[in-house]
Amino acid sequence: MVWGWYEWRRELVERVHPNAGHEAVARRECTVITQNVDDLHERAGSKDPIHLHGSLFAPRCSACGEAAPRSLNAEKSGVGGVGKGAVGIAGGTKAENGSPMGSAAAAGGAAGAGGAAGAGSAAGAGGTAVAGGAAGAGGVAASAVGRAGSPSAAGGEGSRTPPVCGYCGAAVRPGVVWFGEALPVAALEEAVTAAANADVLITVGTSGVVYPAAEIPQVTAKMGGAVIQVNPQPTPLDPFCVVNLRGPAAEVLPRIIS
Ligand SMILES: [Zn+2]
Repeated sequence: MVWGWYEWRRELVERVHPNAGHEAVARRECTVITQNVDDLHERAGSKDPIHLHGSLFAPRCSACGEAAPRSLNAEKSGVGGVGKGAVGIAGGTKAENGSPMGSAAAAGGAAGAGGAAGAGSAAGAGGTAVAGGAAGAGGVAASAVGRAGSPSAAGGEGSRTPPVCGYCGAAVRPGVVWFGEALPVAALEEAVTAAANADVLITVGTSGVVYPAAEIPQVTAKMGGAVIQVNPQPTPLDPFCVVNLRGPAAEVLPRIIS
């Protein structure tokens, strides 16, 4: 049942398109840290975003943790079609742990981002943090692209029964972080490192109350970097930011990210 529900959610996400905020972030070479479980940053063109709360597109074994083959997510070409701007899920995907989701922090960075004024850039309507700097910030565990598993493990398109692990035979589970579960260690460490090294971090749409994600912009601030916040409302992160821009990510980010 759980597997089927996530398959349904994944299919819904596939019909949604990145918004102007995702696209603005993707134009910038920066590290993207997101609490969203969708793949809108990837589709907008951002390279290896760090998924703090996992991804609907990275199923893994419930027993041994091995990443399931991407083929389990059988890409259905054509899905999504046109429909630019389809709103809905885009910015506000809820975090699996029930948080309001949404926040992006982008840190412009010494190295990569290069930009003058700095804005690294982040966008993500939903919860994303972009940290510029670290050139590639490498892929996270969440970006697992089919390594393990045998083809026969695939449940097949449309299957509502969880496929089984190609290594140990246990059921494959959705690659998202469920309420009460710890965040993926590798992703969190990578995010904190990027934040600590960022000259500029833009936090977007996050509530600023879900820890440890809310700690990330504070890491940048404590290490001497500048934090810019984009959010329609005030948040507990306001005091840590050098600038607080009130508004939705899809409107604000395209204007501050060149
Ligand atoms: Zn396994």
